[in-house]
Amino acid sequence: MTVTSLGIIGGTFDPVHFGHLIAAECARAEFGLDRVIFIPARIPPHKDARGILDEDKRYHMVDLAVRNNPAFEVSDLELKRGGVSYTIDTIEHYQKAYPGGSISFIMGLDSLFILDTWKDIERLAQMCRFIIVTRPGYNIHDEEKLWDRLPKVFWRQADFVPIPGLDISSSDIRKRVSQGKPIRYMLPENVERFIRENHLYQEG
Ligand code: ATP
Ligand code: MG
Repeated sequence: MTVTSLGIIGGTFDPVHFGHLIAAECARAEFGLDRVIFIPARIPPHKDARGILDEDKRYHMVDLAVRNNPAFEVSDLELKRGGVSYTIDTIEHYQKAYPGGSISFIMGLDSLFILDTWKDIERLAQMCRFIIVTRPGYNIHDEEKLWDRLPKVFWRQADFVPIPGLDISSSDIRKRVSQGKPIRYMLPENVERFIRENHLYQEG
């Protein structure tokens, strides 16, 4: 199949959960995307890289999670690239890989609130569309001066998609595992099994 509309969802995926999957699937369906590529970040610019689970395991969990959706795939592009993982470099790569195709970057509302700190946001906004999905606990009206903080070109490229709210986060999942609380129904079964078998997230 020739891919003409590509979705990209970046994240730490430490671990991947149903919030990520429902975001990607709703964005895909809403805009008829041919494919959504999940790209685990090697070193996320906005997080303390210490304490993030090693990249092979994060990659493997995303791979397990996307397996049963033919429109989804995982890429090790940012893991292989080395250095800090900037979205602009990733989008540049896919522009070259799919000339003439359209690229949509999928993110949750919490990411939008810090988007003005992203590298080359103005240039990035000229290169791809942004699909912003709702996330419980985040309300666009709570965020001051968001309009002014982001370049005009960005707002021309941004679409908002309300999705069924799942108040799930990777940090909460990690905490729950360390506290011996259930994480079942928050992430795919095979990912939970991998976490258990490898004794991940035992220390809080
Ligand atoms: P952490 O708690 O470690 O920050 P997270 O659950 O926020 O993890 P990330 O890997 O930081 O997961 O998120 C990747 C992308 O997925 C971000 O754009 C984020 O906004 C989005 N996302 C994560 N969880 C949800 C959710 N429950 N609903 C909607 N979007 C989400
Ligand atoms: Mg996050």
